Amino acid sequence: MRRTLFLPLLFLAFALVLLTLLFLVEGPVLRRDVQQSEPAAAQMISSPAVMPPPSRKIEASKLPPAPPAKKAAVIMDDLGYSLDLLRSLAALKRPMTVSILPFAALSVESARLAHEAGLEVMLHLPLQSLFEPSSKNPAGMISSDMNREDIEKHVRSCLAQVPWARGVNNHEGSKITEDAAVMSVILGVLKSEKLFFVDSRTTRRSVAVEAAQRIGVPAASRRVFLDVDPQERSIKARLEELFRIAQKEGQAVGICHPKEETIRALQKYLARADDFGVELVFASDVVR
Ligand SMILES: [Zn+2]
Repeated sequence: MRRTLFLPLLFLAFALVLLTLLFLVEGPVLRRDVQQSEPAAAQMISSPAVMPPPSRKIEASKLPPAPPAKKAAVIMDDLGYSLDLLRSLAALKRPMTVSILPFAALSVESARLAHEAGLEVMLHLPLQSLFEPSSKNPAGMISSDMNREDIEKHVRSCLAQVPWARGVNNHEGSKITEDAAVMSVILGVLKSEKLFFVDSRTTRRSVAVEAAQRIGVPAASRRVFLDVDPQERSIKARLEELFRIAQKEGQAVGICHPKEETIRALQKYLARADDFGVELVFASDVVR
């Protein structure tokens, strides 16, 4: 009888010792885990100053790449007749681009002044319009009856009129920008001179940007005419439209004209770009 009870009792005692040992070893470990994690969490909330430094390398690699900056460029067309307006524009101390007509009274002087003032210079190349011009055709205008050689010669002579030009946009030109053959000749010259092209977009049927992309000339298309209505509130609204497009699409080009009202409105409202998270840049920064 004693022998038969001894073995189960021994087994029970052994099991009790084992359980006690298990509790002694595991218990403190579990308690320590809880004690450590709770103050750490509390610390993160209450005092970020003593928060252990996060592993920045891992965090940085987890972040998506920074979105590209939203950019808007404003080009002032039709310059070459007034140095005073150009000086007022330069006084805004903004990255403005000026597009200067060739063979105007002050083409070369305007280009020099703009360049020295830190503005970006473009050639405002007169191209034939679908409509009869209200006054006589602008000097240096390219028309569809010219042959390839004439067109190339014309573009080069116009470029010589506007030194420091980094790019070209069209003055008028609804007829020519619809003509892929003539545009290809013009753009061929720009490519050889490493210049960019901005389509002023005087016709909805323009093929100029497509042609530029085919040839490999960096290009962009005008999205907003800023001062068709020269009233201040209208220019403000058009500028906001420009910034909104840039905010949505990443980039946008606006075109304005050398008028006192326009310069006053630009002075007042160009800073609105900040409210849209948009950076004002030169035209060369938005072509692609
Ligand atoms: Zn023009």
